[in-house]
Amino acid sequence: MVTPPSIPEWLDPSPWLPRARNAGGRMVSNALATESATPADFAALLSPVAPTLLESMARQAQSLTRRHFGRTISLYAPLYLSDYCGSGCAYCGFAADRPRRRRRLETDEMIAEMDTMKAMGFDEILLLTGERNPKADFDYLRQAVALAAERFHLVTIETFPMTVEEYRELAQIGCTGLTLYQETYDPEVYARLHRWGPKQNYMDRVESPARALSGGLRTAGLGILLGLADPVADAIALYRHIDYLRKNFWQAGISVSFPRIRPQQGGFMPAFTVDDRFLAQLIFAFRLCMPDVTLTLSTRESAAFRDGMAGIGICKMSIASKTTVGGYHYESLAENGQFIISDNRDMATFCAMLHRLGFEPVLKNWDSVFR
Ligand code: SF4
Repeated sequence: MVTPPSIPEWLDPSPWLPRARNAGGRMVSNALATESATPADFAALLSPVAPTLLESMARQAQSLTRRHFGRTISLYAPLYLSDYCGSGCAYCGFAADRPRRRRRLETDEMIAEMDTMKAMGFDEILLLTGERNPKADFDYLRQAVALAAERFHLVTIETFPMTVEEYRELAQIGCTGLTLYQETYDPEVYARLHRWGPKQNYMDRVESPARALSGGLRTAGLGILLGLADPVADAIALYRHIDYLRKNFWQAGISVSFPRIRPQQGGFMPAFTVDDRFLAQLIFAFRLCMPDVTLTLSTRESAAFRDGMAGIGICKMSIASKTTVGGYHYESLAENGQFIISDNRDMATFCAMLHRLGFEPVLKNWDSVFR
């Protein structure tokens, strides 16, 4: 195990942890009433509040979501380009020590997968790879981004940390944003779970969203893998990270995701349980303290939980997702995914549910002409 780095002061959650553990009803009510939230308000909203306050949080979160996003849910889908990876993340089904037949999409396969996703109705695609390696390096990713930008108006990447110059090159050919989860901000847990490989570099990952925005990407998606470490401490550090990006890149779009660990090859079990109630509280707390930030919930979560959270904080969701390399067009080529999803509904079923609840599914909210 590498020596854990020390957490930078501007990310450190510890000053607010006592409040998150012990805040009473008055502190929570004050946090609910404020119009300009601080990390202290966010911490208070994560405290073990009474169910009546959780209902108040939900009502307010719903009202703010409607004010900023209307009755809409934006939809996107991930495309895994490759499962080659040399890293050893303990929680990942693609880690280098998992025995599996690995593959990557070649050019004709990328085109077929993207065309199939486009025909399904998607206009936003998230391209994924493992850590940088000879089978899926920058040149490979650049080719995938260029192909995607010919077909989709929004092209985002969830890959490996890059330099400002590399992000700039991707922005120039049509990449609009990145997703990069820190997984956990706890340096000791981070060092223990990232057993080998480039992802061991904690600060390189922390600094990557700022490099991407400096390089010209328009959006940055952040998140923590809930369950790896103390979820309250991780959530406060995540809040601080986003706060930092919003202050330094005011023109950027920031989004937050709330992934919980799902079953995967390797059988990793989370150290902390994150139940539905706490996850709902966390989503409401982000909505109340960051009203205009996009909050995303993926198909990792059950259909029932996603239906319940739609519009109550959450304004963006993936659907019909595959976590295998490809799998939209070449179903027969798809083997084990990175993890097992929970919501297996298809696009039509999901959109029908959104309409029943009074929401408009949004597949396009940006035009590539604005690039
Ligand atoms: S989480 Fe990413 S970097 Fe880590 S093993 Fe999985 S694919 Fe590789």
